[in-house]
Amino acid sequence: MSTKYIFVTGGVTSSLGKGIICASLGRLLVARGLKVTIQKLDPYINVDPGTMNPYEHGEVYVTDDGAETDLDLGHYERFLDIKTSQSNNVTTGRIYYDVITKERQGAYLGKTVQVIPHITDEIQSHVLKLGQSGDYDVVIIEIGGTVGDIESLPYIEAVRQLRYNVGRHNTLSIHLTLVPYLAAAGELKTKPTQHSVKTLSESGLQPDILVCRSEHPLDETIRRKVAQFCNVELEDVIESLDARSIYEVPLLMQKEGLDKRVIKKLKLKTEEPNLDNWIGFVEAVCNPSGQIEIALVGKYVEHHDSYKSIVEALIHAGAVNDCEVNIKWIQSDNLTRENVKDEFKGVSGVLVAPGFGGRGISGKLAAVEYARLNNIPFFGICLGMQCAVIEFARDVCGWEDANSTEFDEDTEHPIIDIMQDQKNIENMGGTMRLGKYKCKVKAGTKAYEAYGSDLVEERHRHRYEVNNNLRYKLTENGMVLSGMNPERDLVEIVELPKHPWFVGVQFHPELRSTVNNPQPLFVDFVKASLKHSKSTDLYKPLKKDKVAAEGS
Ligand code: GLN
Repeated sequence: MSTKYIFVTGGVTSSLGKGIICASLGRLLVARGLKVTIQKLDPYINVDPGTMNPYEHGEVYVTDDGAETDLDLGHYERFLDIKTSQSNNVTTGRIYYDVITKERQGAYLGKTVQVIPHITDEIQSHVLKLGQSGDYDVVIIEIGGTVGDIESLPYIEAVRQLRYNVGRHNTLSIHLTLVPYLAAAGELKTKPTQHSVKTLSESGLQPDILVCRSEHPLDETIRRKVAQFCNVELEDVIESLDARSIYEVPLLMQKEGLDKRVIKKLKLKTEEPNLDNWIGFVEAVCNPSGQIEIALVGKYVEHHDSYKSIVEALIHAGAVNDCEVNIKWIQSDNLTRENVKDEFKGVSGVLVAPGFGGRGISGKLAAVEYARLNNIPFFGICLGMQCAVIEFARDVCGWEDANSTEFDEDTEHPIIDIMQDQKNIENMGGTMRLGKYKCKVKAGTKAYEAYGSDLVEERHRHRYEVNNNLRYKLTENGMVLSGMNPERDLVEIVELPKHPWFVGVQFHPELRSTVNNPQPLFVDFVKASLKHSKSTDLYKPLKKDKVAAEGS
């Protein structure tokens, strides 16, 4: 069977949830036994989002192979339980970079290099690369941006050509659009969808299926109208209402028959879908027995997408523990030793987030200290772990000026520093420790208890490390180095055995949490926080049917 390509475009407005629709369709196809991957094409000029400000772009999602990618790849991994790589995220910047590099090498034999055919050919070759690997039955391609944007045009043209080249029967075009409700008229309006499809058609791409985002159900008349004016069959008008959770979207799409239409049109042979696990998970998320609050301390908290994978990993871990995890967003800039007690009122666990640069560090240190001294479950991730080490070096080991050289290059006690071998790599142009690394886990520790294994793999994105020359001081004073990188002898996990649950990790465990495989440290952190909430009367039981009632 040749690989099928499904292109997903968006119209009318941004933020309709194209990534979630792609991930949901992917999940439905995987549930039918198909091998699926999803690729994101981003129309911006940055080569990758690695250098973008989190306010600008949200989280940078790091893959096993160390690619810094769009956060939608996180959704793909969480929904499909697959691993993505650099090939799954292509930007306009990368396309041009590759084309210009080839041009400099003389690969175009003196021809004039142009958007058509050279840029569009390059786009096609990136799309086909995944299909030609032979690893997938279906490749879903999410095209970033909104139809009609100037920067999307080369992508739409590349898709048009690719459909022609690989045969229409091997491809499908799905368009996600908005059907707004005008309260004054009391009506759903189809005109924006008609215009959007018209714009797409002018570029030579007729959608096969329309997924219509709406706040109200689409009745038969509206569906017929959309079908007729947009030139699709009635069954190919798929309604997509707001869901209780993003994880419910696959089930709603299945109800609307999206997967059936796709397999029929692409003539795919599949098993009956098995979504038992998924349904159980959605029930657990939407109908928990109780609620706890966890503080997330970071400097980008106004923009929740900056911590997307952490938020989702907490949802997964909440489902395992039958509790809803409400995040109390705490701006580290505003946190002090004086106000931390008030800020943490009602909080059963403290998570100090990853980040770069010195802003907000004193607030993060105050958070660590408060959690450590008051036996509140603590989870430090990357910079959060580095802060835990700094706080311990200062307040327990007595090195008052202990710091990371990221914030103070002249400290006498650089407990967090760039390691010598890393400095050499830096001179050669390398920068961060990125992607998947092994971690040896010490038996008898909290980390071991969570993982149930003495060798794990997690993903990294950082420059600085616990200083191997000074780490003796930490262990002398009771900090346990419970996870180590076996190749370079670097500290990956630290913990305090006398504390109910105090764990810091140099890697990003959130990037590996999926619906079917919730990340073990998150699961145990939430478990410890739940225990803390029950022992301190912070636990809020919920009526089992609460969310269902709210949803109706
Ligand atoms: N700024 C720190 C470093 O580069 C931590 C990075 C992070 O939290 N991702 O090591």
